[in-house]
Amino acid sequence: MDGKKIKIRIDAERCKGCMFCVKVCPKKVLDKGGKVNERGVQCVIVKAPEECIGCGLCAIMCPDSAIEISSG
Ligand code: SF4
Ligand code: SF4
Repeated sequence: MDGKKIKIRIDAERCKGCMFCVKVCPKKVLDKGGKVNERGVQCVIVKAPEECIGCGLCAIMCPDSAIEISSG
């Protein structure tokens, strides 16, 4: 992404804790460990934002569209 800063936004209330995003991320940016949301699941957190390459796989994989990747 042209060296721009990549932003990862996770909508904690949408997350259902399926961990697809954690498994698919090639850089191990995401991990479980967030707060328990209204769905009663522990949401995913951005553990290592500096490692993100902006590939967008996590956002594509998320069945609940809880992840947004942007740059700028
Ligand atoms: S955009 Fe790619 S590198 Fe960044 S958190 Fe998502 S899967 Fe990982
Ligand atoms: S893929 Fe989406 S719903 Fe599943 S754990 Fe990740 S953010 Fe949550």
